[in-house]
Amino acid sequence: MTSLSDLGEFGLIKRFSRQFIKDLPDGTTGIGDDCAVIPLNDKEALLFTTDMLIEDRHFVLSKIGPRDLGHKSLAVNLSDIAAMGGKPHSAYLSIGIPSNMRIEWLDGLFDGIRELCSKTGTYFLGGDTTRSPDKLVINIGIIGMVNPSKIKRRSTALPGDIICVNDMVGDSGGGLKILLEGKPLDKYSSYLVQRHNCPGAHLEEGKWLAQVAEVNAMIDVSDGIESDLHRIMECSAVGAEIELSKIPLSEELMNVCEKYGWNPRELGLSGGEDYCLMITVPENYIENLETGYVREFKKPLYRIGKINGNRESLTFTRDGEKIEFGKHGFDHFKSK
Ligand code: ADP
Ligand code: MG
Repeated sequence: MTSLSDLGEFGLIKRFSRQFIKDLPDGTTGIGDDCAVIPLNDKEALLFTTDMLIEDRHFVLSKIGPRDLGHKSLAVNLSDIAAMGGKPHSAYLSIGIPSNMRIEWLDGLFDGIRELCSKTGTYFLGGDTTRSPDKLVINIGIIGMVNPSKIKRRSTALPGDIICVNDMVGDSGGGLKILLEGKPLDKYSSYLVQRHNCPGAHLEEGKWLAQVAEVNAMIDVSDGIESDLHRIMECSAVGAEIELSKIPLSEELMNVCEKYGWNPRELGLSGGEDYCLMITVPENYIENLETGYVREFKKPLYRIGKINGNRESLTFTRDGEKIEFGKHGFDHFKSK
């Protein structure tokens, strides 16, 4: 008999989603991408996404302030809107609150939500409030708007495409490790913790990238580039190769990793919760895109690898040399 842990989160979603993704109306996208898409007319479609954060699973109350938690709960959802090239319209909060929560703490949570709503032009239009027996549970749903002809998906990467991310990766994973291991906070570790507790959502960047017809696929990096690239590979029926030396790592992450003997590349690949964007673009357009992106945002896109036709196989190179995995996987990655 198959158990839940055999299946895993994605196996489970795949198992039940089959019966719900067939027979959908034209232009409607159901389970399988960063947002559901509901077409309205030729120029507009609705996007919908929802994400849940559970105390002691996604956050530890003693390690994050209420404002940051409010901000983060919204940002992780906005990130999915960004990944489809959309603009957020409104947010809906369902919250399960243990009876011992302090009111001032909850005020702080709503301050964080309000600040990011106002920064991103998102209306806060409803939700549900209930008592939770033990842990704090926060679920936010967001409606967004998008031009249906500009939507970017996970399923449209093509062999030969260059894979790029639009921010450094691994900071958030490093920040989480700092918190979980109770490491002291200095200039570098505080930066990583802040990146973990208060991630941005790349809405402007997502909208801009969505206007570029040549960008073939886009996803937001919520579980780490390795895992999210697997989703692109699966949905697009392609393979990919990542060049480890090209994974963009911050000076702060390198510094902290050196201090504690952690592997920065491993955090960059699979630390998760980066909430940057990952795109795939044909090789003959990449320079154009990079130039336009730098002009617009004053920061670069980072090329990390290439899509190929080896369906669902992900390989790694280091300085161009193919890396063979031992059975211990990442344990065999050298940090440099
Ligand atoms: P993301 O990380 O971008 O939030 P996931 O990869 O976790 O998205 O989810 C993949 C897809 O599965 C999404 O389209 C999401 O809406 C869908 N999904 C996840 N959990 C459920 C669920 N319990 N019921 C229906 N759809 C779900
Ligand atoms: Mg996503």
